[in-house]
Amino acid sequence: MSSIEQNISRIEQEITDAARLVAVTKTKPVAVLQETYESGFRRFGENKVQEMVEKYNLLPKDIEWHLIGHLQTNKVKYIAPFVSLIHSVDSYKLLKEINKEAKKNDRVICCLLQIFIASEETKFGLSEEEAVEILSSESLADLKNIKITGLMGMASNTEDESQVRSEFRGLKKLSLDFGKYDAENVSIKDVSMGMSGDYLLAVEEGSTIVRVGSAIFGNR
Ligand SMILES: *Cc1c(COP(=O)(O)O)cnc(C)c1O
Repeated sequence: MSSIEQNISRIEQEITDAARLVAVTKTKPVAVLQETYESGFRRFGENKVQEMVEKYNLLPKDIEWHLIGHLQTNKVKYIAPFVSLIHSVDSYKLLKEINKEAKKNDRVICCLLQIFIASEETKFGLSEEEAVEILSSESLADLKNIKITGLMGMASNTEDESQVRSEFRGLKKLSLDFGKYDAENVSIKDVSMGMSGDYLLAVEEGSTIVRVGSAIFGNR
């Protein structure tokens, strides 16, 4: 077994069936993704549209592609034909654009609302109030080619485990509260949280999707 295969297998055992693993392949060459694919793994996460499209074009078509990085509205059209889950929706305008491009491709695209949970200034995401505004907006029901299936968050980059834990706990709680917005195109079930440094903590706090890169592929 290659070390990539061993790492994936170990992480999948650690997170159990409680969560799905997205292998974050950003910056890794296509050969590394090909090797990972050949070991049987099918769920890849990229943070840049262009890089994801290039890799999509070169690799087998039964891969599940997850966009985990910030998405600009003018780039939605490039990924709309094939993306599996967009983790990083942070505005209503973006949601409308995803809906429009999904419709052109005769698809329903699953999306997570990215919520700002860290204490740092630099990360993207919606406040709780902004997420509520989107979920309670009258016109959301018109977006028939998207489905909001959960929330995503990135914890603070800190050694303080109790802080990270409380940020994860808050996001999980919010996802449960948001059950009240259930609709034809809204069903908040997934919580995408946890990266190489904190995925075990995230799963303990109820993560259902972990996004892990360096713990699988080594440092970037
Ligand atoms: C890069 C990245 C990850 C994975 O980070 P690692 O620390 O390498 O596991 C997870 N989520 C997002 C949004 C990322 O950009």
